[in-house]
Amino acid sequence: MQIKKSRMQMEQKQDQWTALKDAIDGEWIAQMAHALVEIPSVTLQEAEVCRYYAVQLDKLGFAVDRREVSEGRYNLYARLPGSGNGPSLMLNGHLDTIPIGDCVPCRREGDRLYGRGSTDMKGAMAAKLGALRALKTAGITLNGDLWLAAIVGHEQPEAGKDGPLALVEDYKSGRVGGDRILIGEGWNELWVMSMGTMVFTIELTSPRGGTHTTYVPFEENPIRFVGDLIQRITAYQEELDAGASHPLAGTERIDLGTVEAGDYFNRTPVQCRLTGTVRWGPRARAEEVLAELRDLAAPIAEAGQLELEVSMDHEREPFETPAEDPAVQAVAQAHRFVHGDESAVTGKRIVGDANLFVNLGGVPSFYYGPSNETAHSDGEWVSLSRLEQAAQVYALSAAAYCGLNGSRK
Ligand SMILES: [Zn+2]
Repeated sequence: MQIKKSRMQMEQKQDQWTALKDAIDGEWIAQMAHALVEIPSVTLQEAEVCRYYAVQLDKLGFAVDRREVSEGRYNLYARLPGSGNGPSLMLNGHLDTIPIGDCVPCRREGDRLYGRGSTDMKGAMAAKLGALRALKTAGITLNGDLWLAAIVGHEQPEAGKDGPLALVEDYKSGRVGGDRILIGEGWNELWVMSMGTMVFTIELTSPRGGTHTTYVPFEENPIRFVGDLIQRITAYQEELDAGASHPLAGTERIDLGTVEAGDYFNRTPVQCRLTGTVRWGPRARAEEVLAELRDLAAPIAEAGQLELEVSMDHEREPFETPAEDPAVQAVAQAHRFVHGDESAVTGKRIVGDANLFVNLGGVPSFYYGPSNETAHSDGEWVSLSRLEQAAQVYALSAAAYCGLNGSRK
């Protein structure tokens, strides 16, 4: 009896999932993506695309919360209310792009939509609209709320991540919700982990100031301690290579970008400065990594009787959302239903907005996108069939995670 009932429930779920998948309108999404790419929206100049996107949400029957980030620039929030007793999910993505530069003009050709922002990530933003539209047209009620957040200020450093940070603030104040954030960025794989990153500066300063090099034995010249420090950094990378490699993102990295020392050929340098980047895994926080750098430089500074200062900038903490997380599993299940195969689970050395959402907002986050292969290239394009599949995965993920008509707790 019990078996019979659960089989009936499974069949019912299968039917609902098929109906929801079929409710995704690929042509509607293609046209929406085309319209979004046609509106230029370089970071800090997103006002027009925000207006357009808000109108589309409005047309689909959503009350749009326009959250001003700076004058004329808005994060847009919409909510598909659930019946109230399931977990809630936020679909998230950015509407801004890098400068258009020499990118191919916007045009549609066969399965491809060309133009700046097509794959990064207006295509995915159109797919999200398509997912919400399908949930509405299929008359589906979820158990938990489904949120959509279209944000500004992601790409160009000039914006200082103001859109993502405004979202974090709005999470904290309760203006938006979602127990999990699914960012539609990247490839159609489960990107659940990013290393942390920082730009570091190591400064060695000689208290005795600059002196004619003939008066200073070479072994006391501050510049040779810079050589020692570079050797020590080389050894540090070897230690990282020999240490535990993250199963998803590989080994940690330290890289040097600039070395500056000295101002004249026969004068000892007063100040030596090295800058570079470190990318590290979830084993440590930024402060701890900074302390490691200080520890490796301190004996060298001491040997050279140099003052040491180690500092960091643009630091982002690492994040990792377990692959077993129910939201990650929901997307995996949806991907399996749409594609008939398993989605890869990946981690990356590069950071993204999930590093902010997890560490500052406290919301478990991860990525699953339609594509990213041509992002930031002059030949940027997106596959329209992949947008349709992504929309199917987004809608079904919401069904799996938030719960469908009482099929989940
Ligand atoms: Zn992007």
